[in-house]
Amino acid sequence: MNFNIKNTFITNLPGDQETENTRRQVDEACYSFVKPTKTESPELVHYSKEVAQFLGLSKSYCQSQQFLKIFTGNEIIENSKPYAMCYGGHQFGHWAGQLGDGRAINLAEVEHNAKRWALQLKGAGATPYSRSADGLAVLRSSIREHLCSEAMFHLGVPTTRSLSLSLTGTKVLRDVLYNGNPAYEKGAVVCRVATSFIRFGSFEIFASKRDNITLKKLADYTLKHFYPELEQGAKKGYVALFKAVSERTLEMVIHWQRVGFVHGVMNTDNMSILGLTIDYGPYGWLEGYDKKWTPNTTDIQHKRYQYGQQGDIALWNLLKLANALYPLVEDAAPLEEIITNYKKMYSVKYFEMMKSKLGLELDTKKDLKLIEQLELNLSLTETDMTIFFRGLANLSKELVVPEKADLTFLDSVKNAFYKIEEVKGETLLFWKDWIGQYVTRLQKEELSDIERKQKMNLVNPKYVLRNYMAQIAIEAADKGDYTVIDELYGLLKRPYDEQIDQEKWFAKRPEWARTKVGCSMLSCSS
Ligand code: AMP
Ligand code: MG
Repeated sequence: MNFNIKNTFITNLPGDQETENTRRQVDEACYSFVKPTKTESPELVHYSKEVAQFLGLSKSYCQSQQFLKIFTGNEIIENSKPYAMCYGGHQFGHWAGQLGDGRAINLAEVEHNAKRWALQLKGAGATPYSRSADGLAVLRSSIREHLCSEAMFHLGVPTTRSLSLSLTGTKVLRDVLYNGNPAYEKGAVVCRVATSFIRFGSFEIFASKRDNITLKKLADYTLKHFYPELEQGAKKGYVALFKAVSERTLEMVIHWQRVGFVHGVMNTDNMSILGLTIDYGPYGWLEGYDKKWTPNTTDIQHKRYQYGQQGDIALWNLLKLANALYPLVEDAAPLEEIITNYKKMYSVKYFEMMKSKLGLELDTKKDLKLIEQLELNLSLTETDMTIFFRGLANLSKELVVPEKADLTFLDSVKNAFYKIEEVKGETLLFWKDWIGQYVTRLQKEELSDIERKQKMNLVNPKYVLRNYMAQIAIEAADKGDYTVIDELYGLLKRPYDEQIDQEKWFAKRPEWARTKVGCSMLSCSS
């Protein structure tokens, strides 16, 4: 297989002069050359046919020994020079200094069908940026990254992709709950694919060192390769870059809110300059609708990255990016204007998105209230977000909410309630009121029930990668059974389709998963 290597990052940008793979602070450089660490007995667990296809890789190649060797770091692509990227970041609100690709190694940028893709191994060994960690990744988190990248793409959410998931054959020591109980786990490598893996933190690192020369090189490179439609090499261009990044970031977060995705670690080093969802760690999906929910146990105290705050945190991160770009712009006003606009547009776009989830097309003044009331109702008792919105599409606009206290008016959404018996008293009255208002509102629309259902089902997924589903796949894979990975991968390729034969996955989280590690509780330990 001849990869069509078209490296731009390492050919356009300054690199680290040091070539030894030792952990260090790196200055005036965007990357360090480093080779993946060879592994004992690599084994391909799964690969994405879609990603292989857009990279121009045939089925037989993906099943070959060479594919396995390259995508586990045991052989490097001919004429390539693998490298780790240098970046910094704000972690949980605090400047953390140099971070960088501590366990990610870019193999090459390759071109196929006039599109260029960066191929990056995650978990292929230590790099100059590994600090005190080992540069490795374990099977459980690699399964979660591989499956979720692909699931998010099929949900229509901007994301990095995942080509392959392999075992390395090496054991990795991890303390999952950071409570002094380390244990060996199977090591794994994922090959991530994206147009670029540049992050907000890639700019912050140079701004923090007042290295405006490298900062400018990186901004010019980003404009030239990823935002060619914007003005190049001028102050106006850097402002336009910030505006474009802020718009893409906003769009990404609105999608997260739509599908109930909680990233879990929205540090600035995990924010893509292309507005892609990146770095799948302790992410999760809302089951019970709770704006304060975060899957990340490391964040349990402050819940900085809770579902309902993702829009504000993205803004906070954008502010850090604005600060980093400021030396190139030297004028705060246009950057501040973009920030102000983000705030305004977030509300507008969130409102539009929620209306689409409800199948509302006309503009009416009361819709905002209707949405706010719904969000309150959803959190009165544990109510599954995905099942609720999917079910709501089946509600008839002819429905008459009865006076008596029966629950038949909730028939279309009743499966969403974790304990339907809790829907009584005031809660029941709230729901009666809301469904009544919603039906009245639907009657103003011209869409028939069938048309509305079709539209709603295009924005309200039926299947998402609930943590417990990933956990079932992980436990089977740990025993050498990869069938669940394949099943979920197939299921999540068509998240909006009914897939009647797969309805076992259209179900509330089972009770056993409520408190299980890996389901309700995840840590950054991966
Ligand atoms: P994350 O929380 O995964 O976004 O990682 C934050 C920083 O820590 C990044 O610079 C990572 O590359 C680095 N990092 C995380 N896990 C490891 C690991 N096992 N070995 C080396 N570096 C790591
Ligand atoms: Mg990261």
